[in-house]
Amino acid sequence: MTNYKNFKVETGADGIAVVTWNMPDKSMNVLTEKVLTELDKIIDQVVADAAIKGAVITSGKDTFSGGADLTMMQEMLARFKKEQKQDADKAVQNLFDNVGRMTGLYRKLETCGKPWVSAINGTCMGGALELSLACHGRVVSDAEGVKLALPEVKVGLFPGAGGTQRVPRLVNQQDALQMMTTGSSLTAARAKGMGLVHEVAPAKKLVETAKKMIRNGLKPVQPWDEKGFKLPGGAIYSAAGANLWPAATAILRRETSGNYPAALTILKCVYEGLLVPFDTGLKIEQRYFTHILQTTEAQSMIRSLFVSLQELNKGARRPEGIKPTKFKKIGVIGAGFMGAGIAYVTAKAGIPVVLIDRNLEAAEKGKAHSADLIAKEMQKGRMTAEDKDKLLALITPSADYAALDGADLVIEAVFEDRGVKQAATEQAEAVLGQNAIFASNTSTLPITGLAKVSQRPKNFIGLHFFSPVDKMMLVEVIMGKKTGEKALATALDYVRAIKKTPIVVNDTRGFYVNRCVLRYMSEAYNMLVEGVPPAMIENAAKMAGMPVGPLALNDETAIDLSQKILKATLADLGDKAVDPRHVELVNTLVDKYDRLGRKNGKGFYDYPARPAKKHLWPELSTLYPQQDADKVDVEVLKERFLVTIALEAARVMEEGIVTDPREADVGSILAFGFAPYTGGTLSYIDGMGAKAFVKLAKKLQKDYGAQFKAPKLLTDMAESGETFYQRFNPYKAADKAA
Ligand code: NAD
Repeated sequence: MTNYKNFKVETGADGIAVVTWNMPDKSMNVLTEKVLTELDKIIDQVVADAAIKGAVITSGKDTFSGGADLTMMQEMLARFKKEQKQDADKAVQNLFDNVGRMTGLYRKLETCGKPWVSAINGTCMGGALELSLACHGRVVSDAEGVKLALPEVKVGLFPGAGGTQRVPRLVNQQDALQMMTTGSSLTAARAKGMGLVHEVAPAKKLVETAKKMIRNGLKPVQPWDEKGFKLPGGAIYSAAGANLWPAATAILRRETSGNYPAALTILKCVYEGLLVPFDTGLKIEQRYFTHILQTTEAQSMIRSLFVSLQELNKGARRPEGIKPTKFKKIGVIGAGFMGAGIAYVTAKAGIPVVLIDRNLEAAEKGKAHSADLIAKEMQKGRMTAEDKDKLLALITPSADYAALDGADLVIEAVFEDRGVKQAATEQAEAVLGQNAIFASNTSTLPITGLAKVSQRPKNFIGLHFFSPVDKMMLVEVIMGKKTGEKALATALDYVRAIKKTPIVVNDTRGFYVNRCVLRYMSEAYNMLVEGVPPAMIENAAKMAGMPVGPLALNDETAIDLSQKILKATLADLGDKAVDPRHVELVNTLVDKYDRLGRKNGKGFYDYPARPAKKHLWPELSTLYPQQDADKVDVEVLKERFLVTIALEAARVMEEGIVTDPREADVGSILAFGFAPYTGGTLSYIDGMGAKAFVKLAKKLQKDYGAQFKAPKLLTDMAESGETFYQRFNPYKAADKAA
């Protein structure tokens, strides 16, 4: 018997080998070079051993597998770039061969002559689902929460280990395209309904059911290798195909504005691959994958949305040598819009919360928000009555600050008013232990100033959540001048406990995220004032890859809040700090027309009663003389949005507010959806190179104003040819040690 590191192979008296995938040094199985090598040997073993009739592959962990380890792709690319300098053709050939390794291995498995069944015991993603698709049978556990997905498109890639060929040969093309271009997850029942898997079985009977398929004579031949195979739902050139394909390309264009090359390539692989024999289809997929892997989009997305995101989630910025905090109790002061949400996510993480407001009624109202959110989750089948009781029991509403006694961390979310915040700080500190950490959720007031009233400024930190708290995955952790490392470590432990992503930011007006968001809205104001038709403004932003147009976003955050911010900036920084045309626009909307945003149903948009949809306020285009839409260059509008935000991110780096490019990138995508295909604000600049970016900014500065002036940091980088990830290398310490 051969010993494997990542698999256990046990053959019973029935002659069926059970291959259990269980990587000893990982919490989740992933496909690595070593795993592929071992799998290759296992296939040989199954084929060579006459006593083995067939094999069942399953996992020894809760989940089946998360798919390919994307750092493997990064290594492949790094090798490619090195080789490219010596011999470009050979480098591409090597990359092509490497890319095809998984494809070849899976093809070997499905043509090995013995039946294989994948017993999918838990969530199964990407390359692992492609492995399962290469098996002759698939059984999925009916356990709650089991998900199947090909999510590669979310990191700028596509299923490149046979996925684009096997899925549309198993299910109809429309379902196949939808599954792969959105990367969305399927439940076991849905996967069975579509025809992607053969059986759904109780968790305890999973392997037995898989074995039974083999005992019942499962043919070791895939449908597409049988003579006379027909595509489910019809061929490309059929009535169904004629209905599907023109619409499919149009829908993709609408959803992606052509920004995601991998998504388009999925369509190409399926369309072209279904016109040819299966093995040729695999070659087509392999060629496209080799190409896509080299795109800036794929490289930037893998870095930000997979590697950096994981690193930040695992505490890349946590100071060393401080014991992790096990939270026994957390206090939230202010049970309003934000505080209620913070209490919910904390209790959802299983941590007891004391929710304080000015009176018990207000505190209870805050708790009721959790009940509402749970009811919605229950409707979607994502929570049970038991979860509800458990979660609600963890939230104690109170009007008495004494209830905060014993809390490890208190988060203040009272009115955005220095005096009110001071009172909350003092009352909390009067009952808190010396080591407790106090965090403010302020969105505009610098932490250093707020910490002045604290008896223990070392323990005072900012925890800036985004609304709605239950949905938004980012938390900005703000360091005041005197904030200590223990406070930072505790804050990061908390963000990790509630399964959100932290970025650590130094103290400044607007911190990082809001500075960028204000630039986005401010550029939209400029366009309005110039007479760009409002619909063009919104559409150009979406075509640039932003999820929400700047005017719609401003309606969500409230236009009177923008007015307040403009007034405060004027008062604090003087006349030059704001554009008088912006003040006039906002004053007109708020004071003259009472247009405050979504909250009063009147903003840049009108919000008619449901089911009618919101639409731009028709009068908006009468406020300024309108330009002829045909004469406005939409490409320039797109550039203006992305460049103005990226410039602000560069300024924030120059000022040392954000110090790690991973945080600027990940933060920009999670907080305001900065064109994800770019990999984030700084990767957008790195992607085109500082030189090209500065050239573009200069052109925009000449045509549209000083907001496009590139900071010195960027002009220096343009000269030296550096990228942000070189200049602010987050791995410097590790590189030195290596
Ligand atoms: P809100 O008005 O909905 O809630 C504030 C709550 O604090 C109210 O329930 C109020 O009764 C309570 N409160 C006031 N004084 C108190 C005191 N002394 N003790 C106990 N409770 C008191 O406001 P909100 O939108 O939840 O904002 C709260 C904080 O979060 C502000 O600092 C705001 O800047 C920040 N913030 C808001 C958003 C947002 O989108 N609304 C986003 C990020 C941060």
